[in-house]
Formats: sequence, structure tokens, C-alpha cells
Amino acid sequence: MIDFDRKHIWHPYTSMLDPLPAYAVESASGVRIRLTDGRELVDGMASWWCAIHGYNHPVLNAAIQDQLGRMAHVMFGGLTHAPAVALAERLIALTPRDLQHVFFSDSGSVAVEVAIKMALQYWFAAGRDTKSRLLTIRGGYHGDTFGAMAVCDPVTGMHELFRSVLPQHLFAPRPESRFGEPLSGVDADAFESLIRANHHELAAVILEPIVQGAGGMWFYSADYLRRVADLCAELDVLLILDEIATGFGRTGKMLAGEHADVSPDILCLGKAMTGGTVSLAATLTTARVATGISAGGGVLMHGPTFMGNPLATAVASASIDLLQADDWQGRVAGLEAQLADQLLPLAAHPAVLDVRVLGAIGVVQTRRPVPVAELQRHFVEQGVWIRPFNDLIYLMPPYTISSEDVSRLTRTIESALDVLEEVPVSPENR
Ligand SMILES: *Cc1c(COP(=O)(O)O)cnc(C)c1O
Repeated sequence: MIDFDRKHIWHPYTSMLDPLPAYAVESASGVRIRLTDGRELVDGMASWWCAIHGYNHPVLNAAIQDQLGRMAHVMFGGLTHAPAVALAERLIALTPRDLQHVFFSDSGSVAVEVAIKMALQYWFAAGRDTKSRLLTIRGGYHGDTFGAMAVCDPVTGMHELFRSVLPQHLFAPRPESRFGEPLSGVDADAFESLIRANHHELAAVILEPIVQGAGGMWFYSADYLRRVADLCAELDVLLILDEIATGFGRTGKMLAGEHADVSPDILCLGKAMTGGTVSLAATLTTARVATGISAGGGVLMHGPTFMGNPLATAVASASIDLLQADDWQGRVAGLEAQLADQLLPLAAHPAVLDVRVLGAIGVVQTRRPVPVAELQRHFVEQGVWIRPFNDLIYLMPPYTISSEDVSRLTRTIESALDVLEEVPVSPENR
């Protein structure tokens, strides 16, 4: 199996000639991933922010099975169904009050494409089609489709590969003011001068609120986000918040925008929405944007084949109910305290540049890029699943993880730092 996989199947961001090793999984349950060779790994990744309740959860399984007995799917053009309506009601209830209109799509990247389309169509319908560019900040990640890629960090998003086809948007520097700290004048001025100079051309500002994920796992000042929102309102630029990674409690608030008490014009959700079971995303917007697009007979020009999929929307409602019935805030606060307690001291290690913790996210940034294959092997040998990238070793476990298992993850990161010291960095083990 591994051999066929290696020869024929692409994994995320890998070479077909020299792929990083992939481990074969037999099953997953709770916070344990079981490999086909019988080894069990404590999951530190929640499968890229998604599996917030752990794997193979009986309540989520039952929601899918129950819906499966009625229908796995029907088209959303001209038809609707209870699972999609029930989920839209929940999303409208848990997001800021002004967000009243929901577009379902099949993945986060598509939700971002839809958000960008909403912004562009809004200004087009308003007769202001020169407002067609986007402003974002460096260090962001918004997905891998072309529209989303164009607002990812130009370096980590490999813009040079696609320069001839990517739209040219505007990038403010990454805010260096950290979460929990006030906004520096340098950060404020850099953003303000860009938006003031260009607002006539700007359809929207798009960013990840508070936590930048795959672009560098960086946590920035809530004051910065508040300042961005104020400038958008003042200069008539729409604000798109991409909460695909941060939504559903990961940062300690249901939505990361709540840290700054900011309400966007357009909001993207995804990842944890179905509790890590099946792919689903949503883009929400205000009555102003929705009616603006539709004024004069306009329609929102998007309609995925699997839009509003009944299995996905049914399990998403079950996942949200499960989260809300649980003391998720207590759990995430407990994880934050433990991650801080056990990871922050690693800042003294010679291989470490920085350590930061927010909500159920713990990040150890190393001085040099890590040899991913070697570290991966070390982690698996130690019985944990942690997948580093670039210079980042990070944890974002399911919220249901026990404190013993968290300790196991943090101890293994500590031991990995010593391994790091021994492995030379060569191009092929990056
Ligand atoms: C993962 C992610 C996306 C893309 O979602 P996919 O489901 O992988 O297409 C977009 N934005 C953010 C902030 C993400 O973390």
C-alpha cells in the first residue's frame, strides 16, 4: 500500500519524485491515531485544526448515519432541506448579529473565493467597479485556489510560480505587535498609509483575525485588528475575516474576532465546522452586502455541485451542538494554561527562537527550518503525531485531549529539540 501510494498519489505539497514518507493509518478514535502496523499515536494536530472533538465520535457518526438513511445528497439548485437550514440558523446565531446570509461551499479555499466574489460583486452592483483590489497583511494564508492564493503571503504562498496569472493585490507588513500587547505606531502607520492611499481601488481588506495559521502561526495584537476594522468602516472598504482556522473555539473565543470585538462584512468558516468529519465551509455576509449584490437583478455568481451537502450540514450542526453543550471554554482555557506551563520554558533551549501559546494552540519556533522527515520519524517513534513545517513545531490538539496526553506531546517536543541539534539541515530534509 505505502509503495503504491508513494508512486501514484500526491500528498499535500509534496514531490512525486521524492515525497516525504507517509504513514498508513488503520483507524482513529478519540485522540489516538492507529497505524496499520499497530502503533498508536497521540494526536497533536486535530488533523489541521478540524477534529476538535477527537476522532470517531459516536454523536457525529450518528448524525451522519441518521442523515444517510434519508439522503446523502441532493442538488441545492431549486431544492433545499432541513440539515442546511438548521445549520444556517446555528451559524447566524453564533456569529456577529449583522451576519444574516449564508453561502455553503465545499472547502475553505472556495469559501474565500466566494467572499472575494461577494466583495467584488457588491462594488460592481453599486456602480463602483474600480473598487476591485484587495488589501491584506503579510504572513497570511487563505487557501490554495487562485483567488485565495493571491492574498496568501507572497513568499510562503510561492507567488513567483504563478506571477503571470495572479491578480496583484496590496500587502501591508505583518503586524509585529503581539497578542496581548498594545498596537505599535509602526504597525498602525504601515497599514493606515496603505489603506488611505488606495481605498478608492479597494474592494475589501481580508485577513485572519488574531491568529495567522499556515502562513507562520503568528498571534497579533487585538488593537491592530480593531484599528483595521475602524479604518475599513471610515474609508468604505469591506472587511473580510477568514476564521476558517480560528472559528469554533480554537483561540479561546468562539470566533477570534471576538478578542477585538470586531464584526466583519464577510466571514469565512470551515475546518472545525464538521468536527473534522467531512469537508464543508461557509461564507456569511450582512444584509447590506447581500442586498447590494442582488439590487437591480444581480445574482451571486457561484454554485458548487455539492453545495449544502446534507451529510456535511447535518454533522456540522451535531458538532456545534456538541461543542456548545460542553464546557469548551473551560477546556480550551485549561489547554492554554497547560501548554503555556510546559512549552514556554522551552524558549531557553538553544535551538528555539520563540514560543507562543494562545487558546488551544502552542507554537515552538526554531532558529532554523526543521528537517521534517527526521522529526516526523522521531515523533512517531515516541508515539505522537505532530507535523512540523518550516521552522514551526506546533500543537493544536482536539479539545478533548487529557492533560496526561498533552504532557506526552510537550515532552516529545522537548526531546525533538535535542534531535534537531544533531541533524544537519540539507535541502532534501527541509
Ligand atoms: C485551511 C485554511 C483555508 C483553506 O481551507 P481548505 O479547506 O484547505 O481549502 C483558508 N483559510 C485559512 C485561514 C485556513 O486555515
